[in-house]
Amino acid sequence: MADIIDQAQEQAERILQAELSAQRAAGPEATGYCLACGEAVARGMRWCNVMCRDDYQRMEAARRRNGN
Ligand SMILES: [Zn+2]
Repeated sequence: MADIIDQAQEQAERILQAELSAQRAAGPEATGYCLACGEAVARGMRWCNVMCRDDYQRMEAARRRNGN
C-alpha cells in the first residue's frame, strides 16, 4: 500500500512542477504596469483587469502564430 501512495504522491508532485514551470515559461514578468495598456498596477500584477489579460494573451497567440 505504501508503495502506491508514494507513487501517487510522486506523480502529483511531478505534475505540479510541470504546471508551475509551464506557467513560468508562458507568463511574462510583472513590471508594475499593465502589459496590455500600460496603466500602473499593483505590485506583482501584470494586467489591470481580465480584459487586458485576454487582450495581451490574444496578441501573444497571434505573435506566436506568425512564427516568432
Ligand atoms: Zn490594462
